Amino acid sequence: MNQLVPLSRLSATFPAFFRHREVAGRHLLTNYEGGFVLLDAQEFGAFSRGEVPRESTLYRRLAERNFVREAYDVRRAAEKLKVRKRFLDAGPNLHIMVVTLRCNETCVYCHASRADMTSTATDMTPELAERTVDLILQTSSPGVTIEFQGGEPLANFGVVKHAIEYALKRNEVHRKVLDFTMVTNLSLMDDEKLAWLLEKKVQLCTSVDGPEHLHDKQRKLPGLSAFKAASGWIKRINDAYAAMGLDPRVYHVEALLTTTRETLPRWKEVVDTYVDLGCKAIFLRPVDPFGFAEKTHGRIEYPRAEYLEFYRSAVDYMLALDQQGVEILERFASIFLTKILGGEDPNFLDIRNPCGAGIGQIAYNYDGRIFTCDEGRMVHEMGDSTFAIGQVGTTSYAELMTHPTVRTLTLASNLDQQPDCVNCAYNPYCGVCPVHNHRSQGTLQGRMRESSLCQVHKGIQDYLFEKLGAGDPAVLRTFERWITTRDRAHFIQMCS
Ligand code: SF4
Ligand code: SF4
Repeated sequence: MNQLVPLSRLSATFPAFFRHREVAGRHLLTNYEGGFVLLDAQEFGAFSRGEVPRESTLYRRLAERNFVREAYDVRRAAEKLKVRKRFLDAGPNLHIMVVTLRCNETCVYCHASRADMTSTATDMTPELAERTVDLILQTSSPGVTIEFQGGEPLANFGVVKHAIEYALKRNEVHRKVLDFTMVTNLSLMDDEKLAWLLEKKVQLCTSVDGPEHLHDKQRKLPGLSAFKAASGWIKRINDAYAAMGLDPRVYHVEALLTTTRETLPRWKEVVDTYVDLGCKAIFLRPVDPFGFAEKTHGRIEYPRAEYLEFYRSAVDYMLALDQQGVEILERFASIFLTKILGGEDPNFLDIRNPCGAGIGQIAYNYDGRIFTCDEGRMVHEMGDSTFAIGQVGTTSYAELMTHPTVRTLTLASNLDQQPDCVNCAYNPYCGVCPVHNHRSQGTLQGRMRESSLCQVHKGIQDYLFEKLGAGDPAVLRTFERWITTRDRAHFIQMCS
């Protein structure tokens, strides 16, 4: 039977610092450096009263994870923390170039506030692309990813090409470990563009919202099926990677899902669609309150409790598929499990403490305005420039890094000063989003007990710890695979 231990019976001398949460009938304890232990009610009672015999297995389990005050290993804790926070050593590594707002698709939730195909005034110019690359390469991060976004970047492909060629040339001086990514709906792809992108080793990422009828309902492509366009190119690109001798388990088109109300009952169809397309990962992302999604809120939003049911069903199904040899992982799970089981931070900028705003990523708009992150830029397109931090051509790298907004967001996303996060058992693995807080609650700091994002993060981590507590060896093996990083070295551009 579970019961909370009255504070009066909590030993003042036995437990080291811990945070606590009940998960599926077990007591989860986590500590500052991210260690965890799951105890049954009896074990937790003995632990909290300080009545664990020193020669017992329980004592050993607790001591080796740094939950016993008299056996606390400060050096080990510091080492673990150093590994987890390694990302703080570098400057921003993700640089998002919005080369146009034009897009040929109309999505019901468009977070980017697209412009129609005639709005060429929203195209970045080649000169501005060069100045943007010059600024990007000043980052103190040794690794640099330049991600081309829109709108639809293929609508301004000339500038994408120009920026890549210019960056490769300039990198002969800067010598960064450089790679390029393009987020595209693929419908404007053709053989010539693809051949160029493959030759320049540009990673391609697209959107797939599930089965054809759902994808086409949410993403309108005039006169055509958006799903057929995307899926046809996904297969061709994956075939091209295979023909180049690249391992298909590592090299394939990545796809992103945006979950709307219509997606929720279709979890099985969504997973099956991704498997059929040869995708090895699904990111079951809930819809965000940015861009057109704010206007279509009434049609596409849903209570997050329903989302979490959807998430559990989909991931249970993915785990069952995995037992049958079908490799497909869920990205949220992979991110959290890497921190929980792997002891490392995968540097996913939106679930990081502090988050990546300014210090992990920067977004450059088509007109040269600079934002803390892509979401900050999305909010600007909604008429709110809170997250603007400069202008390409006039703002220096040092000014960006010391900008008051960057400092503020670093503080606002620091979980150790968030009233709820500071005591939450998921603190070592979690992250908050000041842009999301700002849009949904009118405060950068946010109120986590009313935050839909906190509800999602908490619910997913509850699910994962339930699975870890159940201890099914097959599930544990799958989780280990989900945290295995596979090097995509082919995409790294080394200068000669
Ligand atoms: S503010 Fe939000 S979207 Fe921007 S980097 Fe931080 S977590 Fe990500
Ligand atoms: S965001 Fe929510 S789940 Fe994450 S640490 Fe804070 S309170 Fe916990």
